Amino acid sequence: MPAYTYYCNDCKKEFTVYLTMTEHEKGNPPVCTECGSKNVVAELSSATVITSKKS
Ligand SMILES: [Zn+2]
Repeated sequence: MPAYTYYCNDCKKEFTVYLTMTEHEKGNPPVCTECGSKNVVAELSSATVITSKKS
């Protein structure tokens, strides 16, 4: 299961969550593990996920 690093804009901390690709593609951001805020952004730099987009 790929790990995604998120950055919390409220407490200014990074946290890592494990999401399935399906969950991630649903656009379902997790809540901050520190403060429970949903004001988080994905740090894609650390996520090594290769997706083959079919259009
Ligand atoms: Zn937070």
